[in-house]
Order: sequence, then C-alpha cells, then structure tokens
Amino acid sequence: MPEAAAQPAQLLPTVSIVEQTMRKARRSVAMALAGAAVMTTALLAERLWSSTALERAADRYAVAFKLAGDVRLADQQVKTAAQMAVVTADRTWVERYDKQLEELSQTIEHASLLAPPSVANRYRTKTSTASAELAALQQAALQALAAGSPDTARAIFDGERYTHHTQLLREATEELTAASLSATDNEVRVLRARSFAITLTMLVLMLGVGLALWRHLSRGLDRSRGSLLDAEERIQRLAASDLLTGLDNRAALHDAMHTAMSRAKRHGDELAVLMVDLDRFKPVNDRHGHMVGDLVLKEVARRLARCLRQTDLRARYGGDEFVVVVEEREGPGTARASAERIVDRLSQPMQFGDLVVSIGASVGIARFPSDASNDDDLLRKADSALYRAKQSGRGGVCLYDAQLDDALAERDALEQALRKGIAAGELVPFYQPIVDLARRNVRSLELLSRWRHPTRGLLSPDQFIGLAEDRGLIGPLTMSLLNQACKDLPRFPPHWRLSINVAPQQIQDESLVPQLLEILVHHGVAPSRVDVELTETALVSDTSRARDVILMLKKAGMTVTLDDFGTGYSSLSYLAEMTFDKIKIDRSFVRTLHERPQSAKIVAAVVGLSRSLGVETVAEGVESEEDARKLLDLGCNLAQGYLFGRPLPADEVRLLGYRNEPTAYFPAEAI
Ligand code: C2E
Ligand code: CA
Ligand code: CA
Repeated sequence: MPEAAAQPAQLLPTVSIVEQTMRKARRSVAMALAGAAVMTTALLAERLWSSTALERAADRYAVAFKLAGDVRLADQQVKTAAQMAVVTADRTWVERYDKQLEELSQTIEHASLLAPPSVANRYRTKTSTASAELAALQQAALQALAAGSPDTARAIFDGERYTHHTQLLREATEELTAASLSATDNEVRVLRARSFAITLTMLVLMLGVGLALWRHLSRGLDRSRGSLLDAEERIQRLAASDLLTGLDNRAALHDAMHTAMSRAKRHGDELAVLMVDLDRFKPVNDRHGHMVGDLVLKEVARRLARCLRQTDLRARYGGDEFVVVVEEREGPGTARASAERIVDRLSQPMQFGDLVVSIGASVGIARFPSDASNDDDLLRKADSALYRAKQSGRGGVCLYDAQLDDALAERDALEQALRKGIAAGELVPFYQPIVDLARRNVRSLELLSRWRHPTRGLLSPDQFIGLAEDRGLIGPLTMSLLNQACKDLPRFPPHWRLSINVAPQQIQDESLVPQLLEILVHHGVAPSRVDVELTETALVSDTSRARDVILMLKKAGMTVTLDDFGTGYSSLSYLAEMTFDKIKIDRSFVRTLHERPQSAKIVAAVVGLSRSLGVETVAEGVESEEDARKLLDLGCNLAQGYLFGRPLPADEVRLLGYRNEPTAYFPAEAI
C-alpha cells in the first residue's frame, strides 16, 4: 500500500562548496604570502646586521694589522734612537729616544686593546718586568752618556741583560699583535658562520612553514574535492532523473538505451522497449487533484520497480507515459510477460488514506534489433504498438509489427488527405431523423458526416472521425459540416431541430462555443434549434471543463444530449450532476433488447431515472417495429434508427417526403 509522499531530498548544501573552497584557498594563499613577507623581512634584517658586523670586524682587523706594523716600526725607531744616542752622544737623540719610547708604549697599549683581554693581560704581566728593566738600563746608559762615558753606555746596550729583555719584549709584542690579528680574524669567521647558520635556519623554517601550509591547503582541497564530486554526482543524478518519481527522465533514457543497445549488440542479445501508458489517469487527476495524481505516478514507479528486474531500465517518458527496457534473455516471451505483469500490477487498486483509485495500463512493445536499430525508431515503433494496444481496449499489450508501421504511414497519408478534403468541402453532411416514438413525427435531424473521397468513394465516419480527433482536425470538420447544414436547414420544416456531434477533444477547445455561435448567427439559425450531442468520454476526461461547456451551450440557447449512454463509464452520477436535456441510450441495448432481459431492465431504469430528472430519452438503432413498441412500453419517448430513416444527404431527406403529421409513419422498406 502506498506510503506517505517522501520529503524532497536536500539537493545541495546550504553554503556553496565552491564558495567554501575558494575561501579556504584564499586563506591559505594569504597565510603563505604573510609568511613569506615575515621571512623575507627577517632575512633582509639579518643580512643588514651581519654585513655591518662583518664590516666592523674587517675594519678592526685592518687596524690590528696596521698596529702590528706600527709596533714593529716604533720598536725599531726606539732601538735606533738609543744606538744613535750612544754613538753620537748627542742630546737630540736622547730626546728622540724618549719620544720614541713613549710612542712605542702607546702603540702597544692600542694593540693590546684589540687583542682578547686574556692575551692583553698575559702580555702586561709578561712585559712589565722586562719593560721596567729595559727602562732602567736605558736610563743608566743615558746617564753614563751624560756623565761622558759612552763606553759604559754602549756596554749596557750590548749587555746580555739588555739583549735578553729586548728579546723578551719583542717576542711578547709579536705575540700580542699576532693574537689581536687572529682575534679579529676569528671574529670575522664567527660572524660569517653565524650569518650562514641564520640564513640556513630561516630557509629551513620557510621550507617547513611552506610545506605545512601546502599540506593544510591540499588537505582542505581534498575535502572540497570530495564534496564537489558528491555534488557533481548529485547534480548529474538530478539532471538525469524525473523529480517526481525518481525514475530516469527522457534524456537519461536515451543515454541508457545507447549503452544497453551497444552492449546487446556485443553479446548478440535482444532488447525490448515497452511503452507503458496509464489508462484513466486523467480523470483521477481531474477528480482528485494533482496531489493524488502525483501519488499515483509515484506508486506506478514503485510498482514498476517491484515487477521488473533491478537491471531493467525504467523511465518516465511523459505525463503518464513510462518506458521500460528489458533484456530478452529467455527468448521473445520475456517482454510480453513483463508487459502483462505491468498491466496486471498497475490495474490493482491503489489506496491513499481513505481514497481508493483504480487506473490501468496499456503497453506497446518494440524489439531491438529486429524492429529497429536506433533509440528513436524503437521508441516510435513502441509508441505505434501502444496506439494499437489502446485501440484494442484498455489493459492491452501489443507487439510492434511492420504492418503497424504501414498502417501508421497510411494514417499519415489519410490525415493529409483529410486536411485537404475538409478545405475542399469533401466532407459532407448526412441527416438521420430522430422521431417521437408515440406520434411518429420528426423532432430533429442528426448531422452525421460522410467523406466523398475523390478516389475511394463515400467513406463512413468510422474511417476518419477517429483520425480527425487524434490529429486535431475534428474542430475544422465540425465547423465545415455545421456551415453546410445551416445552408440545408431552410429546406426542412422550421420545427425540425438539428443534432450535432461534438467530440471529447473539442471540450478542451476554448473557441468551440463562440465558433458554433458565429456560424449560427451568420446563417440566421436560432441556437435554440440546435442540440449538441456529447459522449460520456467527454465528461470523464475532464469533468469540470465538460460542466462549463454544457453551461455555456445552454446559456447560448442550445440543448445538450448525452450520447451513447451505457457504453462508457455509465456513471449515473453524471446525470444528476449535469443538466442534460436528453439521454441517448446506446444501440447495444436496443439490439439486445429481446435477447437479454438485462438490457430491458437497464433501459427501464435509465428511462425511470431520466423521467424523474425531467430528461427525455432517445433510443438509438431502432430497426424493427418490435423494438419500437417495446421501447415505447418501457417509457422511452424518442427514437432513431433505420426503421425511421437511414442517414441521407439533404435533398434525399426531402425526397422521402416526410410529412409533418402527428402520425407520420415511414416503414423501413420505403426508405
Ligand atoms: P453516433 O453519434 O452514435 O451516430 C449514430 C450512428 O448510428 C450513425 O452511424 C448511424 O448511421 C448509426 N445508426 C443509426 N440508426 C441505426 C440503426 O438502426 N442500426 C444501426 N446498426 N446503426 C444505426 P454513423 O453515421 O456511421 O456514425 C458513426 C459515429 O461517428 C457516430 O455515432 C458519431 O459518434 C460519429 N460521427 C459521425 N459524424 C460525426 C461528426 O460530424 N462529428 C463527430 N464528432 N462525430 C461524428
Ligand atoms: Ca450522435
Ligand atoms: Ca450514439
């Protein structure tokens, strides 16, 4: 039994996945840019700092190098000044010696500032005694010189002590200058190494951060990719499916058929295309509304799923048309068996709450590759088989065969001929009297069409009315006939009315009533002279529209007859619901009046009901006096049939010499 209508699935997430992904990517790029900016600034700062530090260290190295030279020079000059003072005993050398000595100690002091403190300290302790000793020796030598004994002075300078201390002092000075040189040199090297290490660390850091960012971004993108793929799949599924039933839609069906056909071709298999059309769907939809119509369609989809294999293709092809594609693995019977199963399942009543509805289905079948080798042809042929199935009654299953195709081509040709025929006035009116059963006088003439076909002779309505209805030609045909009938009317007594047939399809035509009125007005025929015959099919296919049309016709002054009563749905409720002026009891009841007691009972019931509603009854197909009498006994007041007159052209109707007398009676053989 049907379940409650499923909630429509959420089609797409509320925040767009594309938007999310874009945001994520933008954030990652912004982070990468910020990171790169910070790193670049840091690198530049480091470069700047280390290059100034290096420059300063290099300067210090140069100074140290120069000082080392200066110490050596000053030492040389001290020594020379002392020697010269001894040799020349000149005061000026003595003074120069003092000055040179002063300069030497200053230069050494300067150099020791550049040396590492430990080396400078060691230098100071190492040289303090030697310097003091040497100063004392030089003082003594100079005093000796001043006292006029240069030999003593020279002996002091050449003495072992003086040479020893000078040597000591020179070595220490050498050591000091070398130490300060190597200290500055070291400093430069350390600076270089540090700068290199910092640069390397930063590069590694940058690489690490870059990698982390990349991983973050790519993980995010992976997630988005998953969602996007899901969404893409969902979109594809939606685009390929019918939203109401979830079955494939037309486009998807064609794709799936292509695939199925090429697979079948490879394996040498046969396929069958089943075109399924629901019977009585429209009246259900009209009566109970679209909500119920939708439920019915969903239920149809569910039942199709249950009575077919999972692998069989199922699609909604149109409003109430479905297509099923099955593989004919077990031979050519599979398709027919499936079709019969479908018809059986779909004919079972459907229950929605308290409401029970009954529909049915007809199926047309075409096979691949025997009937057609492409999808369009297959569908077209399945459709023409379906047309046949529908013609043969509801719940029919019909297989396509080539003759059907010929019949279709023939119908196409006939349609063209009919179109031309209507325009050329080949469709002509015939008239059949409807008489008062008791008084036997003519009440009305029923307008029945005939086609004077240029090559095939006179064709009866069953050869072209159905076609005209199917191909939208019934409107023009009706109007052409009415037009001609209006011209004939002056030939008949003025109280003879005209009964015209309006097909079910014309109920939907908004212009029906205005067009009828226009013709009547044009010929000066009073609408009250016209009776419109509608069949039950017209009421069933769209009840509310039929009710409106009936009201419009009556408002315009015409009367309305329910034609062929008893052949279709025979719902007595229509009689109460709609205000008909007459009911025509179908030929089939009259024909069986004598064989089937039931027929007489039905006629009696209809007549009884009609009387109580104030509606006249017409019996169709009255061929014998016996029928006429029986019908009169049953209470029927009007009749039509060969007994009173066959359908004839206007001039022949007149020739029959119908007298407008209360007891006018025309035996059948006289007609
Ligand atoms: P219908 O409206 O039921 O018309 C009565 C049919 O019964 C006519 O067939 C008529 O010839 C036939 N008939 C009358 N008396 C007897 C009888 O005693 N015995 C037998 N066996 N048949 C009798 P016809 O003229 O062949 O028309 C067939 C149907 O075609 C009509 O049935 C009507 O439904 C349709 N039709 C004819 N002309 C038109 C038209 O202009 N427009 C439309 N929409 N339908 C038309
Ligand atoms: Ca009729
Ligand atoms: Ca009829």
